[in-house]
Amino acid sequence: MLSYKTPVRDMKFLMNDVLNYPEHYKTLTNGSNADPETVDMIIEGFSDFAQSVIAPLYQSGDAEGCHFKDGEVTTPAGFKDAYQQFVEGGWQGISYPEQYGGMNLPMSLNLIKSEIQATANWAWSMYPGLSTGCINTILHYGDDKQKDLYLPKLVEGTWAGTMCLTEAGAGTDLGQVKTKAEPNDDGTFRINGTKIFISSGEHDLTENIIHIVLARLPHAPEGTKGISLFIVPKFIPNADGEVGERNSVNCGSIEHKMGINASATAVLNFDDATGYLIGKPHKGLRAMFTFMNTARIGTGIQALSHCELAFQNALPYTKERRSMRALSGTKDPDHVADAIIHHADVRRLLLTMKAFTEGARSMIYHAARYADKMSEGIAEGNQEKFEKWDDKIGFYTPVLKGFLTELSLEVAKNGMQVYGGHGYIKEWGMEQIARDARISTLYEGTTGVQALDLLGRKIILGSKGKIVRDYTTGVMKWCSDYTTDKNMRKFVWALTKYCADWNILTVRIMLLARKDREIISAACDDYLMYVGYIMMAYHWARMAAVAHDKLENGGTESPEFYKAKIQTAEFYFDKILPRAGAHGESMLTPSQVMTDMDADSFDFLD
Ligand SMILES: Cc1cc2nc3c(=O)[nH]c(=O)nc-3n(C[C@H](O)[C@H](O)[C@H](O)COP(=O)(O)OP(=O)(O)OC[C@H]3O[C@@H](n4cnc5c(N)ncnc54)[C@H](O)[C@@H]3O)c2cc1C
Repeated sequence: MLSYKTPVRDMKFLMNDVLNYPEHYKTLTNGSNADPETVDMIIEGFSDFAQSVIAPLYQSGDAEGCHFKDGEVTTPAGFKDAYQQFVEGGWQGISYPEQYGGMNLPMSLNLIKSEIQATANWAWSMYPGLSTGCINTILHYGDDKQKDLYLPKLVEGTWAGTMCLTEAGAGTDLGQVKTKAEPNDDGTFRINGTKIFISSGEHDLTENIIHIVLARLPHAPEGTKGISLFIVPKFIPNADGEVGERNSVNCGSIEHKMGINASATAVLNFDDATGYLIGKPHKGLRAMFTFMNTARIGTGIQALSHCELAFQNALPYTKERRSMRALSGTKDPDHVADAIIHHADVRRLLLTMKAFTEGARSMIYHAARYADKMSEGIAEGNQEKFEKWDDKIGFYTPVLKGFLTELSLEVAKNGMQVYGGHGYIKEWGMEQIARDARISTLYEGTTGVQALDLLGRKIILGSKGKIVRDYTTGVMKWCSDYTTDKNMRKFVWALTKYCADWNILTVRIMLLARKDREIISAACDDYLMYVGYIMMAYHWARMAAVAHDKLENGGTESPEFYKAKIQTAEFYFDKILPRAGAHGESMLTPSQVMTDMDADSFDFLD
């Protein structure tokens, strides 16, 4: 049976000691709302809810799944009541403007809240999670009337939202979207088409569902430049903001999936459904991409949540399960065998899980500070400010999404491995984590798409490598402060070398790409993983630096806590970071090694 406890000490170490959130909050217009007492109240209050209400529904929700009958979806037992408690607690709106009923706290706190709910129960947390995308879209692109009509209920949580992009023929390539939007005389639009794979597309948790839909206006340009964005409510709101007439958007079925069984993934049919244009005509995909960064951080949080849950539930087992004797000699003489935590190979599994979990959290909390600034731009209606911070965050998001989700699969696999054969048995829950984690590398853009975005769009086309030079200069500058520090020397020398190599590799790929365009696609996965391992190394070095400082000068935590941080950093640098070298070597292989094989030569079955 899985259980969840919020890792408050790890979270506060990052927020207060490594990333200095209190100082960061002083730079935000809404930062004074996030005084230490409020932050504690949010973390503790929400943890109570997550641990006692939604965590116990994680395995039962998976076993029961969602039910579909006559176009309606019923969520698993307990989900609706839990959602009601979530709404009553006012949790949906903590980072949204007070004008719409929110608490106007910095967005980073909302992301930290998301981590807690996601770890307790990822499938449940997808329902409020999808609403976030819908709220952000209306907040940023809606007109005042649309904001006043939809936001209070969405922020309250009594209405939920979705993002309807995908169609049977259009997933990664949204330029192929076929759903049509034709104007009515009254300024509304008739929406016709079918969307597939829509998370939270239909359910029984809320009185209304507001769909944000990508569709084409008549005579729209072909491809991505001809897509517009529409609000399509399940029930059309009356002028007083209450639910009115049923709209003709219907759930045709829900998918039977490998995991996240408690999250309804719907086929939605729009048959002359009434829609309302949001934002400018033909600029829908651009608007949607505005929120890709936040959505992708959300999937990075999903990765972190699976890592944390797997680690928390693997560790106790390794202290209880006994098997043979440690090679270095008996550890538990009073027992017939030693606990498996005494075997170095089991420690490899555990330390990898721990290093990835805490490293991922640090990377996400770092990016969350940029999300605060970006949200400040939205709240102030300051497009320039929004774009500046959106750009900054844009460098990190493919790594948070692509790299961290790939790592989460390894952590989930290690969690099962620690349990031996029991890891494969449902009641322990480890196989559920592995199944639930698997979707994270697929939706919100596959790992391949993230890798192409990072290397092709952000690094080569977007900045001609400058973004890498800027980032590595910052890291190397940080390293230079520690070159004579005997505790830190090992970390900063390794990091400095990797940063120098990263620049050289980037230039070499750019030169190769002049003659061999396909190299970008051929090298991007290695490049993404290479960058991810180096970025995580920087976070571990920073955590080690703080831990050394606290050990010497005193901190709020125990010496064992700081020592464990340093030991995990050492494990990461010795046993994990060398993987980057292999990716660096592989990425320079000419693309012909992949492209030369004739498509008909992949198999010889005929
Ligand atoms: C459970 C679940 C929930 C989902 N929730 C939502 C939702 O709420 N809203 C929504 O709109 N969608 C949702 N989706 C859809 C999801 O975002 C898409 O499935 C995903 O974007 C991939 O699209 P696709 O399935 O069409 O794969 P394809 O686009 O067909 O990709 C197939 C393979 O080709 C690769 N590929 C494609 N193009 C390129 C290229 N140019 N270069 C290199 N490789 C390429 C991909 O990386 C992938 O490996 C969900 C899907 C699932 C399964």
